[in-house]
Amino acid sequence: MVIMKRKQALKDGLKHYFTGKPCIRDHIANRSSKDGVCIECAVAHTRKWQMKNSDHNEAIQKMWREGNPDYERNWRKNNLEKIRKNATNYYKNNSEKMSNWYKNWYKNNPEKVKVQSATYRKMFAGKVNARTAKRRADKLNRTPMWLTKKDWKNIDFFYECCPTGCEVDHIIPLNGKNISGLHVPENLQWLTKLDNLHKGNNF
Ligand SMILES: [Zn+2]
Repeated sequence: MVIMKRKQALKDGLKHYFTGKPCIRDHIANRSSKDGVCIECAVAHTRKWQMKNSDHNEAIQKMWREGNPDYERNWRKNNLEKIRKNATNYYKNNSEKMSNWYKNWYKNNPEKVKVQSATYRKMFAGKVNARTAKRRADKLNRTPMWLTKKDWKNIDFFYECCPTGCEVDHIIPLNGKNISGLHVPENLQWLTKLDNLHKGNNF
């Protein structure tokens, strides 16, 4: 580190300079060219002030947030990548801690979990049904390997757009008596629950 006097730092337009000598509190650190104050002293001072005035600071922050309601939302919108990356990193480094936290939360909030999953089911009924159907088809080995991304999209779409009162049905059942159909878009149809009941399994 270059040793210099404040006068020189000001002349060179530097924000900080280094004297190599300890400050009155024995820090050997950079000093601010503006007032010659040791940086470590300044940080310590700010921290002490913040601690002493934490209520005051919180009030100011709250006031500011209320005055700028869109700031946080906009910031989130503009920094999605950053937030995602941070979250991924955090999860990677704290996966055990987090999974324990979730497990505990689920155990301690059964009512909230119930409401949450009911809401989720209602909002994403089609998606949930599509996933359940896939699981069932996988189990029966009726999901062909050659299904493309587009096929999967079509299948999901079929479940998501299923009219109220209807069910997605496999035209040739996945587990028919004689032949078994595949979990593919071409083998899907919408049936009313009653029709589905009467359809039986004659394949
Ligand atoms: Zn100092």
